[in-house]
Amino acid sequence: MTGNKSPFLVAPPLAPVPGLVHGFGDARWSEADFLAFAGSRGLRPVIMRQLHSDIIHRIEAGPAAELEGDALMTDVPGLLLVIRTADCLPALLVDEDRRAVAAVHCGWRGTGMRILEKSVRAMGEAYGSTPAGLKAALGPCIGAACYEVGPEVREGFLLAGFPPSVFAARGDVPGVSVPGLKGKFLLDLRAANAWLLGALGVKKENIFNPGAVCTHCDPRLFSYRRHPADPRRMYNFIGLTRQEI
Ligand SMILES: [Zn+2]
Repeated sequence: MTGNKSPFLVAPPLAPVPGLVHGFGDARWSEADFLAFAGSRGLRPVIMRQLHSDIIHRIEAGPAAELEGDALMTDVPGLLLVIRTADCLPALLVDEDRRAVAAVHCGWRGTGMRILEKSVRAMGEAYGSTPAGLKAALGPCIGAACYEVGPEVREGFLLAGFPPSVFAARGDVPGVSVPGLKGKFLLDLRAANAWLLGALGVKKENIFNPGAVCTHCDPRLFSYRRHPADPRRMYNFIGLTRQEI
């Protein structure tokens, strides 16, 4: 994290998009703080019960009942799509031309199910978005050096089509189990999701990584692996304000 005073990070290249509100909140922001922020912008938050699934919701109005799933998309102004995280990767997608946005929860389970790819495809079906027309911001998540996973996770990723290079290995051969990890591997969640976007045709120069730091190492961020008993989560959000034309 940089020494900024704002309680959330933004991707500066997205700032010029008219009416776009987005950010990756840090540990200073409680739910009440976040809700006050949304209200001050005239935006209605859409918060899911997250399941580590590949369930994607198209939102056209503030939902009456609690949603369950792991990705939200909309082209309706006035809504603020929310993903809550503590180690998982929050991904925000923008189609500036078609005025559509998405927020995607990418933990290892969702990433293994390629939820970010499915979200890009869902935006294509819903709004006519193309990968080449999308911009993506990948927020803070657990870093590869801290993200040990078992061999069964690696096997699942390889079966799902991911390259072995998404498994980092502290200076050793990529994808090879690291000595001292007792058969464990190190998953690079950010690289895995960036790889999905690149394979779809999202341009590399349109994939931004604001605050590409490790949630596990940085005390200003929440980390499930550092404090499993802490129920607090960071608020990551994207939406479009109503524009007066
Ligand atoms: Zn770390």
